[in-house]
Amino acid sequence: MAVPEEGSVVETGDQAAPVGWVERTAFDYTAMAEAETAATWDGNARVYQWKDEYGDVGPAFEELEVELFGDPESRRDRQTGLDFSKIEQIEVIQEGPQRIEYIKTFADAGIHPVMLRNIELCGYEVPTPIQKFTIPAILQGYDVIGVAQTGSGKTAAYLIPILSKLMGKAKKLGAPRPNPARFQEGVDNVIAEPLVVVVVPTRELAVQIFNEARKLCYRSMLRPCVVYGGVPVREQGGLLSRGCDILIGTPGRLKDFIGRPEVLSLRRLKYMIIDEADEMLNDDWESELQAILSGAEQDVGNVYYGLFSATFPKAARDLAKKYLCDSHVRFRVGRAGSTTENIKQMIVEVSREGKNETLLTLLEEMNGVRTIIFVNSRQAADTLDDFLFNMKLPVTSIHSDRTQVEREAAMRAFRSGQAPILVATGVTARGIDVRNVMHVINYDLPSIEYGGIEEYTHRIGRTGRIGHRGVATSFFTERDEPLASVLTRTLLETNQDIPDFLQAYIPENWSSGTKVKFETESDFDPNDVAGAGEGCGDEGGGWNTADNVQGDSGGGWGNSGGNDANEAANASGGGWGADAAQPAAGAGW
Ligand code: AMP
Repeated sequence: MAVPEEGSVVETGDQAAPVGWVERTAFDYTAMAEAETAATWDGNARVYQWKDEYGDVGPAFEELEVELFGDPESRRDRQTGLDFSKIEQIEVIQEGPQRIEYIKTFADAGIHPVMLRNIELCGYEVPTPIQKFTIPAILQGYDVIGVAQTGSGKTAAYLIPILSKLMGKAKKLGAPRPNPARFQEGVDNVIAEPLVVVVVPTRELAVQIFNEARKLCYRSMLRPCVVYGGVPVREQGGLLSRGCDILIGTPGRLKDFIGRPEVLSLRRLKYMIIDEADEMLNDDWESELQAILSGAEQDVGNVYYGLFSATFPKAARDLAKKYLCDSHVRFRVGRAGSTTENIKQMIVEVSREGKNETLLTLLEEMNGVRTIIFVNSRQAADTLDDFLFNMKLPVTSIHSDRTQVEREAAMRAFRSGQAPILVATGVTARGIDVRNVMHVINYDLPSIEYGGIEEYTHRIGRTGRIGHRGVATSFFTERDEPLASVLTRTLLETNQDIPDFLQAYIPENWSSGTKVKFETESDFDPNDVAGAGEGCGDEGGGWNTADNVQGDSGGGWGNSGGNDANEAANASGGGWGADAAQPAAGAGW
């Protein structure tokens, strides 16, 4: 069911929803738990079925194409929804020892024709700023650090070049796999030997990346799989046993499989991506990460690494030092502050008792639109979900005490518009990318101890996704005083109105146009050369020949100081010519 147009008429009667909202749906969590064994997990979603007789490129399958990319009609609508003038303005700063010449279009990059077509089917017309840099960098064989958040297009920023590179070589590099048409469970099972592993902190993010990989692997031999907690290991093992080239997973479950050599081996691994690294390190996944980064027979000296993180704290730097090659490249995409200029942020002063009433008024004013409401505890999520449901609003909720079936059902209801209001705790909603979230409400602002301003920017980033506009409303109570100063500075940086009660926190020396400095920026030391060199893929020979490392000319990056991608992105004739873009000499496409 689509979310109705704002202000449209909704059925009346006893069960009528408040004006502008669709009818609520009751979610029977008990029934869901009972149905768990028969559940259709998100990780079971269909992937392209490759057959050996296809040669190099598989044929199109219309039905799957529609499932993956939407019908052609909706694809056209989707493309017009993006405001690329905004995206172009996002700043990318190159730091670290290597400089990369950026690409302006996907066609410039010398990527595999099947990948080019998949990008077109996704509706991606122009690379986002981070993609402009990571695509050539990865194609040229560099390890990459990207300080960027979900919403910047970072998933495709690493998947496009990696999968494109592998498409031409999948037959040579990939493990043998059973013919899907004749597969017999228990007879044809193989050990999964992925070429790529992507580690992410949350299940929802894992599923999201899996879905992006399903699209970008379309018509190729590359087979994506996803593993995460909450789903029986046996079921996921069954999927792996049909072969797996791209494995996406959460740390706990990946480690579990790494301990099962009869199911998973990393001996063919070529790329390891750690996504949302800061979050993972925060959450104490360190021992799991160690196992993932060194276990299952992987050839540690011959693996490329990509480290993506919203911030770059010491723990992430240490990880980079240990695994990334000296000659890695680093990009920092304008912090959330810059991207949130298309989010209108409002801070409303309320008493704790007044929150529910203010919330109802807000939902009445901005009715019928996809809305995420953040709270700080699982109990608060349950209570608020009940309250809104009793007010006949179409609400669902998600938090870490829910089973996987419940979490997936809630996300599906939210995405489809059946329950356009989602109550969530911050942790679960990390990285969620749902199109057209128009309104984010911080019913509870994050406390300084639990994420503070970083968590705030993550949360409001669920709206105003690439090129869309959104509204973020936050309830400010006397308990939120400790956040007031940094919150005010965030509002200033993003050109927002400062409410009266925060005026006192405007820095004395601030004048319009000043760039406010954030704590997180000082995390990133431009002179800190990460990489002890142990993990350099180009030293082991074979896979990464010297031929495909090029482009560190030091020149061509062009503008004064070489640091402002904005200028660079707008400069014409920036020198990344089509010829130069052919990534790996002799790579075979
Ligand atoms: P991510 O930062 O990876 O979560 O991506 C955010 C959203 O941007 C996802 O919905 C992607 O499908 C979308 N996206 C990624 N790259 C592009 C692009 N070049 N043009 C338009 N949308 C994109």
